[in-house]
Amino acid sequence: MGGNWYEATAHDRPDLPPLQGDTQADVCVVGAGFTGLGAASTLAPVAKVVVLEADRVGSAATGRNGGQVHTGQRRDQAWLEKAVGRDDAMALWRLAEDARAHFKTLTDTIPCDWRPGMIHARHKRGGEAEDAAHVALMAERYGYDQLALVDAADLAVELGTDAYHGGLVDRGGGHVHPLNLALGMARQATAAGAVIHERTRAEAWRREGGKIVVETVSGRVTCEQLILTGDGSLNAMAGAARARVMPINNFIAVTEPLGALADTIIRSNAAVSDSRFVVNYFRKTADGRLLFGGGENYRPGFPRDIAGLVRKNLLKVYPQLADVAITHAWGGTLGITMSRMPFVGEVAPGVRAASGYSGQGVMLAPYVGRLLAEAALGKTAGVELLARVPTPPFPGGRLLRWPLTVAGLSWYALRDRL
Ligand SMILES: Cc1cc2nc3c(=O)[nH]c(=O)nc-3n(C[C@H](O)[C@H](O)[C@H](O)COP(=O)(O)OP(=O)(O)OC[C@H]3O[C@@H](n4cnc5c(N)ncnc54)[C@H](O)[C@@H]3O)c2cc1C
Repeated sequence: MGGNWYEATAHDRPDLPPLQGDTQADVCVVGAGFTGLGAASTLAPVAKVVVLEADRVGSAATGRNGGQVHTGQRRDQAWLEKAVGRDDAMALWRLAEDARAHFKTLTDTIPCDWRPGMIHARHKRGGEAEDAAHVALMAERYGYDQLALVDAADLAVELGTDAYHGGLVDRGGGHVHPLNLALGMARQATAAGAVIHERTRAEAWRREGGKIVVETVSGRVTCEQLILTGDGSLNAMAGAARARVMPINNFIAVTEPLGALADTIIRSNAAVSDSRFVVNYFRKTADGRLLFGGGENYRPGFPRDIAGLVRKNLLKVYPQLADVAITHAWGGTLGITMSRMPFVGEVAPGVRAASGYSGQGVMLAPYVGRLLAEAALGKTAGVELLARVPTPPFPGGRLLRWPLTVAGLSWYALRDRL
């Protein structure tokens, strides 16, 4: 059984040497996932940028996710209108559309198996009226005409399963090979002058003589501005942000190539995501396998039999794949927030952080990285808009935060089974 299928099919993974000794930069970026790489690519043409990556480029959530490209924000526009008011909701929609345009420039220039089409499938009866209201709101108020309703019968033919009760097609979404996208972003950033040090963990930062000094075990970076990323792995360096983001683990399995069966499953080759609290999400890969994400846990560490855990959920949707082997299975850690909107903001003067995309960072995170870079260069509007979205601390303080959240999440996960 293989591990991460994306690593097995990565195009080109150069070894980027760890930091050795002391260096200077205008901006130091911590983390080489989508957010850090988005920041580094934006900064590199105009500033000296050094990226510190604890492991390898894209080795965390960025190179382990479902590759599903969702449009909009993690919360829908009706929710945002209530939470932040009409004007900011409109500005957040425009920001997400800018992120989509930015994402297109990436997929146009980086080979990463981009395929358009995203289907949201309802796992329970009912919900047609809410979906119809959403399509109408998006068309009328936001001018977004890429959504269409699909009924249960048509969806069953499209997906090759009768597990769903209808849903929505979003022609603006799609799917990618996220690790190849990230490796391409790293190539673009280094070509523009960014220096990326892999296997270099930032341990702490402090101020010294008006500058920021970032400490690692093998050297230091002295910089003017600092950008902290790490979806599910922000450490104490991010200060107050840490109480607002909780790590959880999610699991993915990939089958052997499906052969002729592939033609009967997801005929349009879209990505699919369902309405469960612990979402099942799936799609075909460029070489005709089924990549299926489903299953979570809320404690440090992954279960031993990830393939077995995901397979149970996969067979509920596709019982006809009972004889198809799973060849790869892996887990990943992502950050969630109470509001499910990412925490983005300035955590200390000149130090900005972004984390907690709550499972929807493939399209947004590269652009949030760009916005963090722009803020470091003095253009702060995008970061300020995102910082106005409430992401309250998890209840319970340092000691009780984890058990209280686990209890809450487990309850919602249980409701999926009712
Ligand atoms: C299993 C799974 C499935 C998902 N599916 C989807 C999906 O289908 N669609 C979607 O939109 N989103 C999905 N997501 C979420 C998406 O992957 C993330 O939102 C996105 O990748 C976040 O990117 P990032 O750069 O902010 O964080 P990360 O990818 O976590 O990158 C942060 C980097 O920072 C490094 N780092 C952390 N601390 C330090 C330190 N102190 N020093 C140096 N380096 C450090 C880490 O090693 C890591 O490489 C999924 C996530 C997971 C785990």
